Amino acid sequence: MPSGRTHNLINVGTFAVGGTIALFLQRADVVTISSFDAVTFTVGFFVGTFLLSPDLDLAEGHVSSKRAWGFLGFLWVPYGLLFSHRGWSHSWIVGPATRLVYLAIIVALVFGFLRLAWPTFGVPDVRVSWVSLLPLLTGYYVSSWLHLMADGVRPDHKMKLRPKRARR
Ligand SMILES: [Zn+2]
Repeated sequence: MPSGRTHNLINVGTFAVGGTIALFLQRADVVTISSFDAVTFTVGFFVGTFLLSPDLDLAEGHVSSKRAWGFLGFLWVPYGLLFSHRGWSHSWIVGPATRLVYLAIIVALVFGFLRLAWPTFGVPDVRVSWVSLLPLLTGYYVSSWLHLMADGVRPDHKMKLRPKRARR
């Protein structure tokens, strides 16, 4: 299985090729991609590649995607303990969602503690439409899927029904 470094190289290389093709198609008026969509897709893709890699399921040890978090890397240790390597974390649809939910829980906990310690602390009122988040999410999922393809994980990973027992 490829190392974290190899995964990063595969993702960045694919992004460079895909980005060049997209730019070419845009110039040729075949597709129209707004700069906002291009930027949010790129952010989602690189966050997914470097910070939210499926290999965070190894965060109880030393893994490059945990190191990318610097001193905050320890935050992913429970995720690594919760998810077995190449289990649900490496499924195509649920896997990337588990890391988003985990991150949302951490952010909620941090805000909760801040409010407790500092009651006047206000949660910023940020309103974004879900549609504008779609390119961000797409970039994130595409980065995870490239990782899974490089790992040789099929899209039906964890979706197969358990084989029926021959005897009871
Ligand atoms: Zn992996």
